[in-house]
Amino acid sequence: MPMLLLLLLLLMAVAVIAYFYKSKPSKNDIALKQLNASKSSDVPQSLQNTDILSFLNEIDCAVLSNAGFDYVLEMFFSNLKAFVPCELVSVTQLDIGAVDISGMLVITQAGERHEYPTLLDNSLKKILSVNPNGYFLENFDMYPSLKPFTELGVAKVLLMPVYRDAELATVLYFGFSKNTELTAEILLIARYLADRLGVALTCVVRAKSLYYQENFDCVTMLPNRRFCRNYLAKEIMRAQRFETEVGVLYLSLDGFKKVNEVAGYVAGDAILKEVGQRISSNLREIDYVSRFADNEFVIILTDTGGAQSLTKVAEKLVSLLNQHFAFDDHQYYLNATIGIAVYPTDAITVDSLLQYADATMNRAKSHGHEKFAFNEAQMNSFAIHRLAMERDLRLALEKQELYLLYQPQMDLRNGKVVGVEALVRWRHPTNGVIPPIEFISIAEESNLIMQLGEQVRRMACQQYRTWQDARIAPKRMAINVSSKELMRDNFATDFLNLLNEYGVLPNSIELEITESLLLNITGPLSESLKILRQQGVLIDIDDFGTGYSSLSYLTTLPFDVLKIDRAFVTEVVKASDKSEVVSMIITLAHHLRKTVCAEGVETEAQLQFLKDLGCEKAQGYLISDPLSAGDFESFLKTQSH
Ligand code: C2E
Ligand code: CA
Ligand code: CA
Repeated sequence: MPMLLLLLLLLMAVAVIAYFYKSKPSKNDIALKQLNASKSSDVPQSLQNTDILSFLNEIDCAVLSNAGFDYVLEMFFSNLKAFVPCELVSVTQLDIGAVDISGMLVITQAGERHEYPTLLDNSLKKILSVNPNGYFLENFDMYPSLKPFTELGVAKVLLMPVYRDAELATVLYFGFSKNTELTAEILLIARYLADRLGVALTCVVRAKSLYYQENFDCVTMLPNRRFCRNYLAKEIMRAQRFETEVGVLYLSLDGFKKVNEVAGYVAGDAILKEVGQRISSNLREIDYVSRFADNEFVIILTDTGGAQSLTKVAEKLVSLLNQHFAFDDHQYYLNATIGIAVYPTDAITVDSLLQYADATMNRAKSHGHEKFAFNEAQMNSFAIHRLAMERDLRLALEKQELYLLYQPQMDLRNGKVVGVEALVRWRHPTNGVIPPIEFISIAEESNLIMQLGEQVRRMACQQYRTWQDARIAPKRMAINVSSKELMRDNFATDFLNLLNEYGVLPNSIELEITESLLLNITGPLSESLKILRQQGVLIDIDDFGTGYSSLSYLTTLPFDVLKIDRAFVTEVVKASDKSEVVSMIITLAHHLRKTVCAEGVETEAQLQFLKDLGCEKAQGYLISDPLSAGDFESFLKTQSH
C-alpha cells in the first residue's frame, strides 16, 4: 500500500511538473509579446548610444545625397551586425518598377549576397496586413517564399512590413540561428532599424520617381528637355575649363506626325522608342541624347574632335534613321534632318546654342536636299582651317616637309622582324609634327593626295633600296595607299616603274588599302589590283573589322594579307565576344590561305592570345613605336642579338 501511494504521488508530481513546464512561456514568446505591445515609435534603450546614431545618420545622408536603393540597402545590411545578432538580413521588394531589384535579396553575416526570384506568399501578405508591427516565425516550412532561409541555416525569422502609399511595398527579414536567444530588446532594435530603413527606402523611391518624372521622357526613357538643358550647361562649363568644344546636334524627324495620324499613337510611340534606341546605341558612352520635343531630339557631343567627326556622327545618324521602321507588319519611313552648332565657335550659352542648332536644322530642311548642316560661324571656322591646311600642305609637298617613320612587324612564329610599315608625318614649319589623321582626308578632298602618295612611295622605295644594299632590309615593306589614288588610270604601271627604278622587287612590297574601299571594286581599281598582284605585289586589307566587315565577303576579295584593326586587338583579352570574332576572322583567313597581321598590339596578353590563335604577324607599341630610319636600323641590331 505505501508503495502504491508513493507511486501515485510520484505520478502526480510528474504531471504537475509537466504541466508547469509546458505552460511556462519561452523567452522568445515573452520577447514577442513585448514587441507587439510596444509602439513602433518607441526607441529602444540600448539605441541611445552614439554608434547607432552615427549609423542612422549615415543612412540619412545616403538618402539625401540621392544614393541608389541598392547602396542604401548594402550600407544598412553591412552595419546592422553590430546591433542585431542575426545570421542574415533580407529584403523583398514588392512595388517592382519603383526600384532596381526584384525578388528577394539576402545578405549574410559574412557579407555574402544571394538573390532569389521569389516574392512573398499571399498567406504571409495577409498575416503582415494584420501585424503591422512585425511578425515573428519559428516554424516557416509551409511558406515557399521563405525556403531560402532554411537552406541558409536560419531557424527563426522576424518579418517587418514597410508600407508606401498604404500598400505593402517592402518586407525586411532578420534571420536568427537556433541558439540565438531573442530578448525583447533585440527584437525592438530590429524593428526600430527596420522602420528607419523603411523610411529611408521610401525616400529613395520617391526621390527617384520625382526625379524621373521631371527629367525623363516616359515614351523613349531618354532625358527630356529640362535634363538636356542642365546637362548642356554643365558641359559648357567643363569645356570652358578644359578649352574643348561641345557639339549640339538638333535632330528633327519628318513624317512622324503622319505615322501618328495613320497608325495611331501606339505605333507612333513604338517608333519613337526605336528612334531613341537607334540614336543612343550609336553614340559614345560620353555623348548624350534627349527627346527635346514631339519629333525632335537633341544630341550633345563632348570633346567633339572637330567638324570632321561631327560630320561623321551626323551622317551616321541620318542614315540610321532613314532606314525603315517596322511596326505591326507595316513599314514606316521617316526623314531626319540635323542642324549643328558648336560651343564656343557658334555661341557660348545654352539658349543660343540650342537656338542656332534649331535654326540651322530648319535652314537645311528648307533647302530640301541637305540632311544636315553646320551653323555659319562653325562652317566658316571649319572652312578657314581647312583652307589654311590645304594651302600649307601644297607648300609642304613642294618643300619636302613630309617624311616617313617605320613601324616593325614581327613574325609571331619565330619572333623575327619580317616587315615594316611606312607611316607618313608632316613637319609643319610653325605647328610642329602633324599626324596623318589630320591631313590625309584634306589631301584626299583636294586631290593633293596624288602628289602626296607619289612622294611617300618614292621615299619608301628609296629607303628600302638603301636597306637592301646594306643587307638589312626586312622581307617586306608595307605602304598605305589612298582610295583615290588606286582609282586613277595607270596607277599600277606607274608604281611598277617606280619599283623598277629603285631595283625593288614587287614581292617585297605590300600595299595597304582600307577595307571600306574594297567594297565595290569595279573598273580601274579592279584592273590595278589585278596587274599589281600578277606582278607579285601583295595587297593588304587595312583596318579590317571597322567597316562593313561581313566575313562572307572576304571570300570574294582580291587580297593577300588581312590586317586586324587595333580596335579589335585592344578588346581581345577583355571581352569574350570580340575575342571570338577575332578568332573567327583568323580561322577564315587561314582557310582562304591568307596571312593575318594584328595591328596595335600593346600588351603581352594580347600577343599571347594572337599567337595561340595562329596569327602570323603583329605590329604595335609592344614591339615598337613607328621609328625613324636610323632608329629602325638600331632596333634591327638589338633584335639580331
Ligand atoms: P594605319 O594604317 O592603321 O596605321 C597604324 C596607325 O596606328 C599608325 O598611326 C600607328 O602609329 C598607330 N599605331 C601603331 N601601333 C600602335 C599601337 O600599339 N597602339 C596604338 N594606339 N596605335 C598604334 P599613324 O601613323 O598616325 O597613322 C594613322 C593612319 O594614317 C594610318 O592608319 C593610315 O590609315 C594613314 N596613313 C599613314 N601614312 C599614310 C600614307 O603614307 N598614305 C596614306 N594614304 N595614308 C597614310
Ligand atoms: Ca596601314
Ligand atoms: Ca590599320
